[in-house]
Amino acid sequence: SIPLTFFAGIGGASRRGILVKGSNYLELLARIRTVVFDKTGTLTRGDFSVTAVHPEIVSERKLVELAALAESYSDHPVAASLRSAYAHPIDKERIVNVENFAGEGIFACVDGHGVYAGNEKLMRRAGIEAKSCEKLGTIVHVAVDGKYMGHIIVSDSIKSQAVETIRQLKSEGVMKTVMLTGDRADVAEEVANALGIDEFHAGLLPADKVARMEALKAAAPTIPLAFVGDGINDAPVLKLADVGIAMGALGSDAAIEAADVVLMDDDPTKIAGGMRTARKTLCLVM
Ligand code: ADP
Ligand code: MG
Repeated sequence: SIPLTFFAGIGGASRRGILVKGSNYLELLARIRTVVFDKTGTLTRGDFSVTAVHPEIVSERKLVELAALAESYSDHPVAASLRSAYAHPIDKERIVNVENFAGEGIFACVDGHGVYAGNEKLMRRAGIEAKSCEKLGTIVHVAVDGKYMGHIIVSDSIKSQAVETIRQLKSEGVMKTVMLTGDRADVAEEVANALGIDEFHAGLLPADKVARMEALKAAAPTIPLAFVGDGINDAPVLKLADVGIAMGALGSDAAIEAADVVLMDDDPTKIAGGMRTARKTLCLVM
C-alpha cells in the first residue's frame, strides 16, 4: 500500500506546477544524481529567429520563401522561425509529399519542386554539397531539385531560468549535468559554457541520444538518471530515463505521454524544487 504522505507529496508538488505520475517517481526524484538535458526548448527558449540569410543563386526573399514553404507542416521550432521570417500566409495546397527527418530537417514538394531544408546531415543524405562559412548559429541549408540554394542562420536564446536551474541542482546534490543535442557543436558549446554544464554531446540523431542515455545508465546502473526534454525528437529518451521530465506548456503531447514528471509551465527551476519536495516526503515516510 502507498503511504498517505506520498499523496501529500504528489499534491504538494502539483500545487507548485510539477505533475508527478506516481509515488515511485517521487522516490526516484529524491535520489537523482545525474540530470541529462535536451537543449532546444528545454535549456533554450525554443523560439528561434532568423539572423542572417545567405543565398547562392536566388534572392534572399526567395530563399526564405522556399524554406518557409517546405516547412509549412513542421512543428519544429526552427520551422516556425522560417515561417515568421517569410511573413506571408501560406497556401498549403502548394506543398505535397512532406517527409520529416528527425534531427536533420524536412523534405517537401513545393510547386512541383523537391525542396530539402535542414542541416548538413540532411544535405549529405540528399547528395548535396552545402556551403557555409558562418560559425555561430543553427544553419538551415536549402536545396531545390538537387541544386544548392544557400543557407539561413537561425538563433535561439537561453532561458532566463537555465543558469539558476543548474546552480540549484548542484546545491541539491546533483553530481553531473549533461546536455544532448542534435544541433551543431559550437552552438552546444556556447550554451554548455554559459550554464556551467559538465558534459555535452552535439550533432546527435534521436537514436544517438538513446545510445548516449544507455551509456550513461550503464556507467552508474544503481543511480537513478533524469532526462529533461520537450519531446520534439526525444520522446524515446524520456521513456528510457529513470525519471523522464517533460516541458508541459511548449512540449508535445508525445512528451507529456512519455514523461514521468511534467513541468506545467516549462520552468526548469521547478526540478530542484521537485527534488526537495520528494526528499521531505520521504523523510516523513521513513
Ligand atoms: P535538439 O536536440 O537541439 O532538440 P533536434 O533533434 O530537434 O534538436 O534537431 C537537431 C537539428 O536538426 C537542429 O539543430 C536543426 O539543425 C535540424 N532540424 C531538425 N528539424 C528541422 C527542421 N524542421 N528544419 C530545419 N532543421 C531542422
Ligand atoms: Mg528537442
